Amino acid sequence: MISDELTQQTSARPLLEIRDLNLDFGTSRGRVHALRNVGLNVPAGQVVGIVGESGSGKSTLAYTVMGLLPENADVISGSILFEGKDLRKMPAQARRALLGDRLSMIFQDPMAALNPVRTVERQMIDIQHHDQGSRNDKRARAVEMLHRVGIPDPESRIGAYPHHFSGGMRQRVCIAMALLVKPALLVADEPTTALDATLEVQIIHLLKELQQEIGCSVLFVSHHLGAVAELCDRVAVMYAGEVVEQGAVRDIFHNPTHPYTRALLECDPGRIKKSTRTLPTIPGEVPSLLGSKTGCIFSSRCRQAFDRCGQENPVVYRIGLDHVARCHLLGEERLVSA
Ligand code: ATP
Ligand code: SF4
Repeated sequence: MISDELTQQTSARPLLEIRDLNLDFGTSRGRVHALRNVGLNVPAGQVVGIVGESGSGKSTLAYTVMGLLPENADVISGSILFEGKDLRKMPAQARRALLGDRLSMIFQDPMAALNPVRTVERQMIDIQHHDQGSRNDKRARAVEMLHRVGIPDPESRIGAYPHHFSGGMRQRVCIAMALLVKPALLVADEPTTALDATLEVQIIHLLKELQQEIGCSVLFVSHHLGAVAELCDRVAVMYAGEVVEQGAVRDIFHNPTHPYTRALLECDPGRIKKSTRTLPTIPGEVPSLLGSKTGCIFSSRCRQAFDRCGQENPVVYRIGLDHVARCHLLGEERLVSA
C-alpha cells in the first residue's frame, strides 16, 4: 500500500506533479465534487494520457493545470507543482506569464483558440511575444512551423483568416501555434475528437513527431483509447473525479488491474474482435457527484464489489514499480481475472 498520492513513481522529479487535488463546482443543486484526491505525474519529455467516460473529470483536470477554470470552480486543496513551483501559490501575473510560454494548450474546438477576426499570421507572430527577434524573424518561424504541421503553401496561406481553413487544417494551425513557443508542457484536451478517423491518425502522428522533436511533455485528454495507446507513454484512468489507475501504457493496456479500467477496455470498439451492431457499454451510470460519498466511487457498477467496497474508499496500492491502482481487491489479495 502507498499513501493517497500517486507520486514518486519515477526516479527523476516529474515536470508536473499533482498531489491530492480536490475541486468542486458550485451549482444551484449543490456542490459538484469534480476532482477528488487526484494525484498525477507527468515526467519530463513524456506523453501522459487521461482516459475515462464522459463526466469523469478529464477536462476539468486539464483546465485546472492551465488555470483556465470557470468562476464557479473552487480548488479546495492540493498542489500542482510545475517545474517544482506550486501553481496554486503563484501570483496571478506570474501564472499568466507561463501561458503561451512554458505551458500551452490545444482545444477540442480550434475556433476556441483562434481569433476569428485576425489573420493566422498576426496571431502566430503575437504568440511569440516572449521571444527575441524581429517581426520578420517571427514570421519566418511561423511559416516554417506551418510547413512542419503540413499546411500547403504556408507562405501565402499564413495571411488567411481562421475560417478560410478546414477543421483539420485549423487544428494543425493550433498545434503549430501551441508548439511555436516550445512549451515545456502541452495540454491537449480532446484535440482529435472533432476530426474524422483519417485526420485523427494524421494529427496523432504529427503530435508525436513534434513532441519528440521539441522534447516537451504532453498531457493528452482523450476518449479514444486507440489514440492514447498510439501516442502516450503513460496513462491515468479517471472515474467520477478520481484517478483509479495509473501506469505505463503497456501496463494499462496489457495488464489492467482496476475493475473500471478492465470494463473500459472491454467496451473499446477498437478492441472488439466480433462483428456486432451494438457496442457494449459499462452497465449502470456514472454516479452523481453531488454530496458526500461513502465507499468506493465505482461500487454501484463494479462486478467484483464486496462488503468493504460500500464502506471504505480504497487507498492507492502499488502493483508494479510504475503502476498503481485504487481498489480494495489489491489489499485483500483477492484480485481475480475478470
Ligand atoms: P467529457 O469527456 O464529456 O468532456 P470529462 O471527463 O472531461 O467529460 P468534465 O467536463 O471535466 O468531464 O466534467 C466533470 C464533472 O464536472 C461533470 O459532472 C460535469 O458535469 C461537471 N462540470 C464541469 N464543468 C462544470 C461547471 N462549470 N459547473 C458545474 N459542473 C461542471
Ligand atoms: Fe470494485 Fe471494490 Fe475495487 Fe471499488 S474497491 S473497484 S467496488 S472491487
